[in-house]
Amino acid sequence: MGAGAQTSKAEKDGGRRKKKLTPMLAQYLSIKEQAGDAILFFRLGDFYELFFEDAERAAPILEVTLTSRNKGDPNPIPMCGVPYHAVEGYISKLLAADLNVAICDQVSDPAAAPGLVERDLVRIITPATVLEEGEGLVQTRQNHLTAMVRHSDGNAVGIATVEISTGELRVCLAPGLEAAREELGRIAPREVLFPPDDTDLEGLASSVTPAVSPRGAPDARWAPRVDDEIDRHLEGRRDEFSPAEREALRRALAYIAETLRCGFEHLRAPIRYEMSDHLLLDERSRRNLAVVEGGSGTAHGSLWWVLDETCTSMGSRHLRDWLLYPLQDLGRISERLDAIESLIESPGLRRELGTQLKAIGDFERLVARFGVGRAGPREAARLGRALDAAASVPELLIESGKTSLLVSLADSAQSPAGLGAHLAAMLADELPVHATDGGVVRPGADAEVDRLRGLGRDAEQLLAELESRERSSTGISSLKIRHHRVLGYFFDVTKPNLSLVPDHFVRRQSLASSERFSTPELQDLEQQLSTADARCREREAEIFQEVLELVRGQEVHLTAQAAALAVVDVLLGLADVAHQRNYVRPELHRGTSLDVREGRHPVVERTSAAGSFVSNDTQLDETDRQLMIITGPNMAGKSTYLRQVALITLMAHAGSFVPAASARISLTDRIWTRVGAGDDLVAGDSTFMVEMKETAAILSNLTSRTLVILDEIGRGTSTYDGIAIAWAVAEFLHDFEPAPGAHAKTLFATHFHELVALAQSHPRVVNASVTVREWKDDVLFLRKVVDGPASRSYGIAVARLAGVPDPVVARARDLLRKLESGEGPGGAEGLASATSAPTAQIELFSGPEETLRQSVASIEVDAMTPLEALNRLHALVTEARREDF
Ligand code: ADP
Repeated sequence: MGAGAQTSKAEKDGGRRKKKLTPMLAQYLSIKEQAGDAILFFRLGDFYELFFEDAERAAPILEVTLTSRNKGDPNPIPMCGVPYHAVEGYISKLLAADLNVAICDQVSDPAAAPGLVERDLVRIITPATVLEEGEGLVQTRQNHLTAMVRHSDGNAVGIATVEISTGELRVCLAPGLEAAREELGRIAPREVLFPPDDTDLEGLASSVTPAVSPRGAPDARWAPRVDDEIDRHLEGRRDEFSPAEREALRRALAYIAETLRCGFEHLRAPIRYEMSDHLLLDERSRRNLAVVEGGSGTAHGSLWWVLDETCTSMGSRHLRDWLLYPLQDLGRISERLDAIESLIESPGLRRELGTQLKAIGDFERLVARFGVGRAGPREAARLGRALDAAASVPELLIESGKTSLLVSLADSAQSPAGLGAHLAAMLADELPVHATDGGVVRPGADAEVDRLRGLGRDAEQLLAELESRERSSTGISSLKIRHHRVLGYFFDVTKPNLSLVPDHFVRRQSLASSERFSTPELQDLEQQLSTADARCREREAEIFQEVLELVRGQEVHLTAQAAALAVVDVLLGLADVAHQRNYVRPELHRGTSLDVREGRHPVVERTSAAGSFVSNDTQLDETDRQLMIITGPNMAGKSTYLRQVALITLMAHAGSFVPAASARISLTDRIWTRVGAGDDLVAGDSTFMVEMKETAAILSNLTSRTLVILDEIGRGTSTYDGIAIAWAVAEFLHDFEPAPGAHAKTLFATHFHELVALAQSHPRVVNASVTVREWKDDVLFLRKVVDGPASRSYGIAVARLAGVPDPVVARARDLLRKLESGEGPGGAEGLASATSAPTAQIELFSGPEETLRQSVASIEVDAMTPLEALNRLHALVTEARREDF
């Protein structure tokens, strides 16, 4: 929502209660103005209250009762409230409903000063700036905020991404809008910031994610800090970043400053990357290969899911990142592979490292909480324990092998000297949530705290003594010292004993059955007790602040340590998977050939019965085996085979071992995968259009290092169109030379048998098929990929397997026999051999008039709705008017 809308809303709210503006409401409205379109949670005692339109919008979402503040008034103010201690759950409900939340707290002590309590806006919570799981932060997912700014050339886009809960900052320059779209898809941010006047970027943002409203210039009080911060972060590196990247970074930081109102200590130095540093995979290919998301839209069934044997959620997040950003640098890839290899060879150390990592937990997000000022005593104690568990990690790493990566991780994973021990020594065993609750400091850790606690205990002892002394001197056997919240300590004397009360007792209060008295001595003791208690809390809070300062002083060290520990966890997990599932180390090279022996599909293998997955070889190169046409009936295993080659390639580039007996893999810059629209025939033309657009994108972006996977391309249209398009696409992929003599390796699965003829006239095309065996009219899937075309179509056998009624199957067999013997069911010429040219093949089918006649004859008018009938009529007319009819 723009600034104009905010003002008018504030005015409207203001107008509603103009008559009686209490000081508190005036305070509310001025804070509400700062909160913009966020729902304002206004702290009133033990509740957060919502007023006016905020209350009306939020009450149904929060499922709380909407009431009003001044019921008698003809213009009552709508309000609702939630208890402050349960606020997180309510916040997450509003965030889930796409609303932002502003938190206004009491910043002065209500007891300290009379009159209106001071209040301030302390934080605006938006989807990308949540910091708590209770607010909706997902443990194993990054929570990204991305800002985009156009480069001065008008095309390139500076993209800055922040993960607030870990402090990670990444920046890149996408060369054009399309590249920016792809990068945004890979980042999958929770919020995108874009300049308000850039409609292209706005369109881009909304195509990927629920975009946030553009925020203009940040609140003036934050701007200088943001500029300082950028200067600090980019010190000596300014030239590394283009102006668009710097501006994107500035906007992202400004947004954080405005919403979180915290410092930037925990943000790491920005990492600058080029999109070409990583193997590219567009959004559709990523989904098609189920890289980080399975069919259900969750991780289940994805490559990430299979490989994720990490011990901590930070490890899980980093693994996801490795899969989204596979490398192009052979040196870095082998560093990872070396480390994994070493770890596989040391099972004992692996187990020990695993135990330590589990104890360390999500160190990354824990450390970041100190940076954003959201760490209490319990977090500090957790940090102490994590540091303690982390202490042995460097040594274990060095013991598992001196590979360059393990050695450098051992170095960065060192705990800051003495910090863990200091935390353990200072903090009590049982800790309160807030430092001001008292009981934070370990007994014996601070002499002053011990002394004050001693005073408190002494005073309690003296109270008990005083009570028994006065009891015997007065002779009132029921005399007791009691405590009242307002009155403090008093002697309680029941009515029948009033005559025994001595002179030095001062009456404080009379009740129906008793009277309350004080004495100077009692007052002294009370004073001593409450002073000791207050001073003790003060001192404890002071000590805790010192502890926090100490941690903050180590923030840079701790964030680097966190990153190292996360990488250790990923490597350890990958070593575990490789060991458990018999993966091998892939060999990556700068050549162009791919040679996988006994390769398996990691996900299908994992979900099939043990040992039942059939492995397959793949050989591709630029000279003889560039384009592989894979035929075979439905369900034979064509798609699985295609995807397995793509996944093995991707895993190798991520630095993981791969499911195969051996794998030599050429450095690959991009994997394109496209799946035909055939499964979605209802959507008809539009789906086919999408398919063709995507194919066009592939054909115009080929390099010799591209791996192309096409599955049933051309299925979304009529048979002739489909064959023709599939044929032409295959031909283009074969002939096209992105560089002299270079060709893109391609796997092409099709059920258009006609395509096997390509191999005759195109030297780099090879035919392959997935074997099936016919047995008693049924079909047995052998899942073995062999060179050579499929011998015939097993469609009828598959139809039978799927439960098509026997008479239909019998009739199909009859027709097939006729076709094969040359009789043809509708006067066709006969079935040409599998290797004949496509034109000959096309003629074997009945002519277009016959197809149209059959289409009309098969219409069952009685079974159609009027709309279906109209649609069918429209389709028939379109068919009859076709130019090539
Ligand atoms: P197609 O693309 O030829 O229609 P799919 O690749 O979808 O066939 O495979 C169909 C099913 O067969 C898969 O869901 C999988 O369960 C199984 N399958 C495929 N390949 C193999 C294999 N190599 N070993 C074991 N099962 C396989």
